[in-house]
Amino acid sequence: MADILTMGIDVGSTTSKCVILKEGTQLIASSLIPAGTGTSGPQRALDAALEQAGVDCSGITVLTATGYGRNSFKGADHVVSELSCHAIGAGALMPGIRTVIDIGGQDAKVLRVGPSGKLESFLMNDKCAAGTGRFLEVMARILELDVSELAAMDEKAAGKVNISSTCTVFAESEVISQLANNVDLHDLVAGIHASVAVRTAGLVRRLGVTAPVGMTGGVARNDGVVRALEKELGVSILVSPLSQLAGAYGAAVYGWNKAKE
Ligand code: ADP
Repeated sequence: MADILTMGIDVGSTTSKCVILKEGTQLIASSLIPAGTGTSGPQRALDAALEQAGVDCSGITVLTATGYGRNSFKGADHVVSELSCHAIGAGALMPGIRTVIDIGGQDAKVLRVGPSGKLESFLMNDKCAAGTGRFLEVMARILELDVSELAAMDEKAAGKVNISSTCTVFAESEVISQLANNVDLHDLVAGIHASVAVRTAGLVRRLGVTAPVGMTGGVARNDGVVRALEKELGVSILVSPLSQLAGAYGAAVYGWNKAKE
């Protein structure tokens, strides 16, 4: 019998991600296109993953869509919430994980996962940009940096400039005035990361911290935020190199479970 290939597509607010798994465990292709729902991003992510795997759509047994824009994606066999997919994906990428912190482009979620990998409860901040990838993007733009450069800036910080505003718009003005005061840029980035960490830690504490703790979503690629959050919570945080693909990965695993049924 031919190998079963399942594909997961995570139609995010800022980024489209695709994963193809063989027999539910072997990663054979992945793609990440920095364009989210309502753009050509989802189709491009799908095409790129198919090309990498060397198959066409007919070679995919089950296609599962997840993410913020999952309902606008046409052609999926299953449409599954990103909460479920991040829980499944985090469990596959970081076996035994019990608390998952997912910070994406426009929201932050904390999930509690049971010993068998099942989603037990969650809390979400989707009302405010503070503490999300959007906040970091706004700050990076003011500092004329790319979000991918923030972690290296933080690494060189000797101290931390305190950002007191909890609102993104006020924090933006605060950072602009700190720049006018010629503060050290590295310390300013460390302060920005600490502000995201304080905000996220509040959400995590409300749900309760059960170790091991892991992080998924694009912001997990920012080691400065991960370290700030570890300091704030007093726990170590696991991160997979595929953190930003966790939702798509979980969707592909979900499809594999369905194919087995
Ligand atoms: P969504 O699914 O909502 O589109 P993602 O989970 O893909 O969101 O995360 C997007 C966020 O990830 C961006 O807002 C940005 O802050 C962060 N990010 C993306 N790429 C990088 C990178 N290379 N380094 C650090 N942060 C990144």
